[in-house]
Amino acid sequence: MKTETLEILRCPYCGGRLELVESLFHRRTAGEIQEGILGCQCCIFPVVDGIPVLHLLPAATTARDQMQAGRPDLARRTMVGVEDEAAAAAFEAVAASDAATYRETVEALGPNFEGGYFLYRFSDPTYIVAQAVTRAVGATVLGGGRRAIDVCGGSGHVTRTLLDLSSTPPVLADLFYAKIWLARRFTAPGCEPVCCDGNAPMPFVRGAFSLAMCTDAFMYIWTKRQFVGEMERLVDASGAVLIGHTHNERTWSPSHGQPLSPEGYAALFETIEPRVFAEAGLFADVVKGGPLDLSRRDPADTLDHDPALTIVASRHPGVYARHPLQMPTAAVGEFRLNPLYVPADAPGNASEGLRLRLRFPSEDYEQEYGACRVYLPEEVALDAAVTASLAAGRLSPEIVELVRRKVIVDLPKRYY
Ligand SMILES: [Zn+2]
Repeated sequence: MKTETLEILRCPYCGGRLELVESLFHRRTAGEIQEGILGCQCCIFPVVDGIPVLHLLPAATTARDQMQAGRPDLARRTMVGVEDEAAAAAFEAVAASDAATYRETVEALGPNFEGGYFLYRFSDPTYIVAQAVTRAVGATVLGGGRRAIDVCGGSGHVTRTLLDLSSTPPVLADLFYAKIWLARRFTAPGCEPVCCDGNAPMPFVRGAFSLAMCTDAFMYIWTKRQFVGEMERLVDASGAVLIGHTHNERTWSPSHGQPLSPEGYAALFETIEPRVFAEAGLFADVVKGGPLDLSRRDPADTLDHDPALTIVASRHPGVYARHPLQMPTAAVGEFRLNPLYVPADAPGNASEGLRLRLRFPSEDYEQEYGACRVYLPEEVALDAAVTASLAAGRLSPEIVELVRRKVIVDLPKRYY
């Protein structure tokens, strides 16, 4: 972690400032704390492989004891959750390799770690809406040294869309240490990860951020009232709170969680007036190429019948507007063919270019994310000029259109 991040960190329990305890085991450079123990008035917390762990769940207290004993290697094993010697060795081998991919690292973390669908995340319908809303709101309220936080951001897929919106790196907060470790390494390189509990007060100073966001996770938060109160506390006067893709108590969806009704969500906001959007309308905006219309006011009936809602709360006058969708000018990582496409011709038959066919990894995937058929064509032919541009990393008009359709996706380097 950057030493200067201590300026915005606070103990989640006493609210006190945190400082490196110099008398205990630590490793630091001029600007960064690699390993060590942070102390406030009430507790001490470990920094494990550059990630502050600001909660007191059992793994965190075990890792803290291991760090105090001068064993950062064991503390990292504990936080990553590799139980036995074989699993720990497999993880440490990929962690030590500069060539290991995201996929290999996920596989080393075991079959229950990430679900099977991370490969397809960047083109799924939930993601493309989250990405568009995050960039529209983020571009309005961020800029310069203003900072964003992605709470419950998991392995950083949405955090990634914040990286170029300010000069100060976004904070990625999640309880799941292994996920934020992966995010810093692959998905959102340069982000500042903080391991903390979304059901506890958030370990940051008031007004530290201009954007506080949470996507695809809020329906699993039990302490919703506290969570929203904390999000409101974290943003400055012209900042924004964004809760993307939260389920709707009135319409069933897979992985339902414990959702509220649209007005139940709105009532959680006590200091900034929110607007609730039905995700279907935002999805239609994105599919037709924009603009993303955050000036709309969805009627109650539209909200009641949408399985997923997006909530935006801000005093910034530019937020509730029609936002053009930005077209890519360069890859954040690298442009690659969407892995949902497989060659349509037998090997050797394709004389020029490439014919591709959409193929879902499973029926479950198709049920949950089948709405991607709206923008992903069943078949697509790439001529030789396009495949050459793609291989050379050249952004031709044809490539831009394929990126817009998600046939080509901007993937993190060394993703799979
Ligand atoms: Zn404290």
